[in-house]
Amino acid sequence: MVCERFQTEGMRLLDGELGAEEKTVYEEHVKTCDDCKQELKEIGRLVELTNDLRLRTPDEEFWTRYWDSLLHRMERGTGFVLMITGIVAVLLFAIYKAVTSPEFLTFKGLSIAVVLLGLVVIFLSVVRERYHENKSDPYKGVKQ
Ligand SMILES: [Zn+2]
Repeated sequence: MVCERFQTEGMRLLDGELGAEEKTVYEEHVKTCDDCKQELKEIGRLVELTNDLRLRTPDEEFWTRYWDSLLHRMERGTGFVLMITGIVAVLLFAIYKAVTSPEFLTFKGLSIAVVLLGLVVIFLSVVRERYHENKSDPYKGVKQ
């Protein structure tokens, strides 16, 4: 039969729930109670082990998430490059077509040219923004 005080105060001590005064009183009791001394020693070891395990989990989570996000960033990076290449090709083709078209110097042709120019400017601005974002925060999405 284990001393009953261990079931209450002993467990709370290990959980760090005892107040300073309660702790002193119970520690005095442990000095004279073999049951509590023994249980504290064994459970104390168990608690330490549990804490060790608990400490390791965030690490594994961190690395899992790190590789996940790295993969996502690479996928996104590849997609982004392909998208840019495609858009640039389409724009170059459109500009070439517009400039070489006999209708280029008409009102319609010039309007389309202006719209395309606007798209190019917006696009370049977005690309530049994304580029700086990635550069200034290489571990973006990993920390949280
Ligand atoms: Zn006891």
